[in-house]
Amino acid sequence: MSAPSLQIAEDSAVLHHVPLSRVTTFQLGGPARELVTVAAPEALWRSVHDVLSRGEPFVVIGGGSNIVCSDEGLPCRVIRYVSDRVEMAEENGAWCVAGSVGLDRIVERCVADGIGGLTFASGIPGTLGGAVAGNAGAFGAQIGDCVAQVELIDPATGGVRVCSREEMAFAYRYSRIRDRGGIISRVWMILPNGPPAHLRQEREALLALRREKHPDWRAQPCAGSVFRNLEASGPGARRMAAGKVLEESGAGALRVGGAAVFVKHANIIVKETDSCTAQDVIDLVWCMHNKAQEKMKISLTPEIRFLGRFRAVPGQAAWITGVGA
Ligand SMILES: Cc1cc2nc3c(=O)[nH]c(=O)nc-3n(C[C@H](O)[C@H](O)[C@H](O)COP(=O)(O)OP(=O)(O)OC[C@H]3O[C@@H](n4cnc5c(N)ncnc54)[C@H](O)[C@@H]3O)c2cc1C
Repeated sequence: MSAPSLQIAEDSAVLHHVPLSRVTTFQLGGPARELVTVAAPEALWRSVHDVLSRGEPFVVIGGGSNIVCSDEGLPCRVIRYVSDRVEMAEENGAWCVAGSVGLDRIVERCVADGIGGLTFASGIPGTLGGAVAGNAGAFGAQIGDCVAQVELIDPATGGVRVCSREEMAFAYRYSRIRDRGGIISRVWMILPNGPPAHLRQEREALLALRREKHPDWRAQPCAGSVFRNLEASGPGARRMAAGKVLEESGAGALRVGGAAVFVKHANIIVKETDSCTAQDVIDLVWCMHNKAQEKMKISLTPEIRFLGRFRAVPGQAAWITGVGA
């Protein structure tokens, strides 16, 4: 499997027709009409204003670890908000961090500096902005638990405002960004101090668990969990894991083209061959969905997002965000 170059420099000029497979962990997707990589909130704001002033469509992505971009690419500007630098500033008892910073890099820094609250996110790929947008979580905790407030750019006007944690309406893998839009430029988090040795131990244990159960996306391209876990059946009840539903439905051995269900985890799809397409992935997701429906009478909802145009049957339309069309 050829590894993509994710080394596009921060604050790049506008690049034309860059394959989105180079900037997504699934390593899938055709060319973006324009790709701009920005690291600082101010550069993000300028890029958004530039495209708005031309009245053209655009989409903002982070680490590309929760998306599948279509094979024909995206006919719009893709603003990739990512940074290699981890800068954390303390402001009135909260840590202010740009949404472009890698989540796992933040955890690494926090552990070294004796700052707790984020170790659960060890090993989650992608940026802080992407994590807050979808309230990423693991091991019973989620990023929204730590968020005090968020600076948002309005994608329609380019206006900037600060949104409280309550306004963000965090829920399971959900924030208001999903329904009402908004580009996360900065995040303030309340994080308790903790003993570095203990935090390091916790992080190492969680990373080891991930290595055991999850594919390493650099060697086996993927985008994490395919489907959301099920709603809890009542107060105090736990969510049923989508992976369990899929396993019990017999979806574990499914494959379409170059896409296959990961052998160790039925809720993950991996790109097995270089010829794998984004269409293979959405088709496989549909087969998995239908298997769970047929065997367990359970309708699963995808957690990963499909961007662009796909050949889709009617039930799949709600899964797809048709950007720039
Ligand atoms: C191996 C692997 C393991 C994973 N494990 C987990 C896990 O344990 N828990 C979990 O929750 N997820 C997991 N994921 C999924 C993914 O890493 C997270 O959802 C991550 O937080 C997505 O961040 P991103 O920057 O990559 O977002 P992207 O994939 O780039 O974007 C995802 C969505 O967020 C939007 N978005 C991105 N940045 C911004 C921004 N600044 N402002 C507004 N919207 C934005 C995009 O438009 C898109 O709709 C895993 C993925 C992989 C590949």
